[in-house]
Order: sequence, then structure tokens, then C-alpha cells
Amino acid sequence: MSEIIEEVIRGNYKYKLSRTGYGSDRYGVCDICGKWADSVYIQSEMKRYFDPVNRRWSWTYEGCETHMGHKECLTKIRR
Ligand SMILES: [Zn+2]
Repeated sequence: MSEIIEEVIRGNYKYKLSRTGYGSDRYGVCDICGKWADSVYIQSEMKRYFDPVNRRWSWTYEGCETHMGHKECLTKIRR
């Protein structure tokens, strides 16, 4: 089970960063730099959207990217 270590909102995007507790031996090399990682993190991106049914702002994964790799690489690709 991965542990969420950071949740950040940047404009219309939200990023959730979690620690997998494993390295590249289990998850493969970093998505971003292609290098080996002792600790692999996973970052999911969400976009703000207006939900017309419930008439409120919410978050969607649509058109967003989820990546795995070094913590530093993942924080660098945020929009
Ligand atoms: Zn990397």
C-alpha cells in the first residue's frame, strides 16, 4: 500500500505524491529520466472541472498523467 506524502494544488491542477516503498527492481526505471531509483514514487495529476450534475467544482483524472519515478523528477514535471 502506498503512502501519500504530499498533495499540492497548482492553478487548475492537483498533484498527489506517494511513496511506493519499493525501488526500480520492482517498478522499473524512472518514467522521466530513465535511470534507476532506490525509492520509486508515484504522482497522480488531477484537473479541476465543473461538475454540471452536482453543480460544483470537482477533480478529474481525464487528460491527466500519472508517472512513477524519482521524487525530484516528478515534482519537476508539474505544470
Ligand atoms: Zn528520474
